[in-house]
Amino acid sequence: MSVKPEDFFKNIISHCKEYGYIFQSSEIYDGLSAVYDYGQNGAELKKNIREYWWKAMVQLNENIVGIDAAIFMHPTVWKASGHVDAFNDPLIDNKDSKKRYRADVLIEEHVAKIEDKINKEVEKAAKRFENFDAAMFKSTNARVLEYQKKIDDINTRFKTALNENKLDEVRQIIIDCEIVCPISGSRNWTEVRQFNLMFSTAMGSVSEDASTIYLRPETAQGIFVNYLNVQKTGRMKLPFGIAQTGKAFRNEIVARQFIFRMREFEQMEMQFFVKPGTEMKHYEEWKQKRLAWHLSLGLGENNYKFHDHLKLAHYANAACDIEFNFPFGFKELEGIHSRTDFDLKQHEQFSGKKLQYFDIEQNESYVPYVVETSVGLDRLFLSILSASYKEEQLENGETRVVLNLPPALAPIKIAIFPLVKKDGLPNLAESIMNDLKFDYALSYDEKDTVGKRYRRHDAIGTPYCITVDHQSLEDKTVTVRSRDTMQQERISIDKLFTYFEDKVSMKSLLKKL
Ligand code: ATP
Repeated sequence: MSVKPEDFFKNIISHCKEYGYIFQSSEIYDGLSAVYDYGQNGAELKKNIREYWWKAMVQLNENIVGIDAAIFMHPTVWKASGHVDAFNDPLIDNKDSKKRYRADVLIEEHVAKIEDKINKEVEKAAKRFENFDAAMFKSTNARVLEYQKKIDDINTRFKTALNENKLDEVRQIIIDCEIVCPISGSRNWTEVRQFNLMFSTAMGSVSEDASTIYLRPETAQGIFVNYLNVQKTGRMKLPFGIAQTGKAFRNEIVARQFIFRMREFEQMEMQFFVKPGTEMKHYEEWKQKRLAWHLSLGLGENNYKFHDHLKLAHYANAACDIEFNFPFGFKELEGIHSRTDFDLKQHEQFSGKKLQYFDIEQNESYVPYVVETSVGLDRLFLSILSASYKEEQLENGETRVVLNLPPALAPIKIAIFPLVKKDGLPNLAESIMNDLKFDYALSYDEKDTVGKRYRRHDAIGTPYCITVDHQSLEDKTVTVRSRDTMQQERISIDKLFTYFEDKVSMKSLLKKL
């Protein structure tokens, strides 16, 4: 069935609420912007994704260990990391609508509109001419060349303005491009200001003693400051990695697109410490390993692509994103960065403590280089959910809403139904549950017709349903129905555990790596 992309995304968001995946935070108080709560099914799915990441990183790699650092850290950490001085977004307000925007996003969206115009010209021409050559057309058509020149001019001015931190020039670009506020339609803009994205709070019970501390904007720094603790106590040899999952907080100016950009979110990061000079080899390896991890989820190879960063942060010597095809287009899902020795050196300088590695073979000490993999758990959740959500037209004319989640990640692995609520069928269903519940997340359901129960579990994403019927009492077999194929087969009760093991266990997913 063809649904408009914006409606498709809206349908996913309502589905998340209807089936206990995601709720707006503090909903009864009309919610808190860009903050979300995970419901009974969402919490399970999120936990399973986290577990899959953790096991793939820590359990399957002999040289990677995991830690769990505190959210609060010494304030100097954020001075050393550069976040106090430079973790900013340029913001601008419209005086008429009183709405706040990211100045860089306004400009990028304006550029994207001009790009759209180019694409439309190309499409129009493609319809007109046979043997159409798009590259040739782009390099010769006067209108396209004019649009392209506009884009180049804006990009050059914008890049220089940002590099030189000239915020009045950023504002001037917005004025010159005649960018209007989408709400008020006016060009009545304030000055552009830098806005630090870190949330701060005070530690200490008496206000005079209070000292400003920050809610961490990334989990990585908890790894850097523990580098030596882990290396020494774990007797780790280079190359080795430290993994961590946990909450991060960013006071995003414009938080949109559901759980794609939140103010409180969760990251799963791994810092891989390597010998200087070997970082590019490890960077390339981690790019491929992380892509393979995403592909193992079976959501479609074409939904992922690498986006190499052309403009690198001052501390990086290579960086790329793995982008995912979200319902609103390809966007960053995970970042892979070769961060050199920047972070450890900064912490050495600000703390006055050495953070070096003694290389026995070379008989020398040095600060290791770092390759980082950093993925947002909530974005990963959204990628999995949006690629799994289907509205299918069945042959009988009905619509089936189904979540084809990777079975090992599904919140409920198996639903168990007695065909009717009598004749001892509930007792047998319960005894099957009691056998399987130590290994799999199950759900018992005896309400409504079996058909309705199937639909309910299709919508939740339960990969298998077991129905216990009268025949089960006689021959100790049950019907197992698959969510994806809707096929049913008769399985002997004592074979159920092995039947499911290679289909829904975390082990089955890990073995794909
Ligand atoms: P973006 O450009 O989208 O703001 P970023 O480049 O600032 O992201 P990183 O600092 O590299 O992101 O963070 C690593 C990962 O953390 C991102 O790839 C993303 O998956 C996740 N992430 C970052 N910010 C948010 C957010 N506000 N909400 C949800 N996830 C986020």
